[in-house]
Amino acid sequence: MFDSLFGLFSTDLAIDLGTANTLVYVRKQGIVLNEPSVVAIQKGSDNSQRVKAVGKEAKEMLGKTPGNIVAIRPMRDGVIANFSITQAMLEYFIKKIHNRSHFIRSRLIISVPAGITNVERKAVREAAENAGVREVWLIEQPLAAAIGAGLPVREARGNMIVDIGGGTTDVAVVSMSGMVTNVCLKVAGDKLDESIINYVRRHHNMMIGERTAEQIKFRLGSVWPPEEGAEETWMDMKGRDLISGVPKSIELRAGDVREALSDCARAILDAVKATLEKTPPELAGDISERGLVLAGGGAHLAGLDNMIREEIGIPVMVAEDPLLAVVRGAGMVLEDVDSYRPILLEDV
Ligand code: ADP
Ligand code: MG
Repeated sequence: MFDSLFGLFSTDLAIDLGTANTLVYVRKQGIVLNEPSVVAIQKGSDNSQRVKAVGKEAKEMLGKTPGNIVAIRPMRDGVIANFSITQAMLEYFIKKIHNRSHFIRSRLIISVPAGITNVERKAVREAAENAGVREVWLIEQPLAAAIGAGLPVREARGNMIVDIGGGTTDVAVVSMSGMVTNVCLKVAGDKLDESIINYVRRHHNMMIGERTAEQIKFRLGSVWPPEEGAEETWMDMKGRDLISGVPKSIELRAGDVREALSDCARAILDAVKATLEKTPPELAGDISERGLVLAGGGAHLAGLDNMIREEIGIPVMVAEDPLLAVVRGAGMVLEDVDSYRPILLEDV
């Protein structure tokens, strides 16, 4: 019993600071937190700002807040758009975990967007230190995703990872513990949702919110026609007519949503092609033989694997639990920091 109270508690954490979701892994325990990267801020009449809610609770408030409360996604476009709010969010999550057990000051690995600037790197480091962390290491998200997806990133071989998150799609080729080429595209889950909003407005004169659009994407979203003979799915949606203002109900079919998502799907495909074209021939050869791995929440999108396979002609795998790939990879590094040291970002 004392073992479980004292012996097994570890103080070290690995965090995936994503544009849509933040996940935390505790050493020797596994993933303990998976919440939206959203902070609800209440503004006072004196211009003061108070954190009202963080994570799941704050996401519930998106699009539903009264004038003095705003729900913010501080990482939205894959850069730290709002440093103090990112810091508040990190602090909240770290404290939430610490309160659950008897941690002492931790060591921390944070996975950050690829191509993060030195200023942003410093900012993340500082945010973690302010949250009471003793030692901080940074790892780029595509590398963490590749590790979490089980790719042999330390070998001299081309490993391709496509991580489709909320704000960005990161396409990277990894070999010998480093990124050889990478392309970061600001077309990912959020843009897919936006495309659905625009489609419904244009074709049905109806306005829907981001959360509804995301629900439609989960239920009907696809980017490649289903197998022949498969039944096409559809759903009824209620909303208000933009012109008459009268409530109405429309029927949305998977084919409509596929049309809505086609431009985004094309952009992701082009990013994969562009990355392959930038890749040195030997490594590109490895990839055409072994294929690429899809990670991130967007990897769940129906037909994405088939689309890339058919259009580019290479094998495509979806990582197991793709939304967890980055935090799983960061966790694997945390469990074995010494041997993974070359993969971590240098101090700036
Ligand atoms: P990030 O790393 O940017 O935080 P995640 O990897 O957590 O992003 O993925 C979040 C994105 O994945 C969101 O845009 C979400 O809508 C999308 N997503 C999650 N599940 C699915 C699904 N089943 N189908 C399509 N998209 C999904
Ligand atoms: Mg991510």
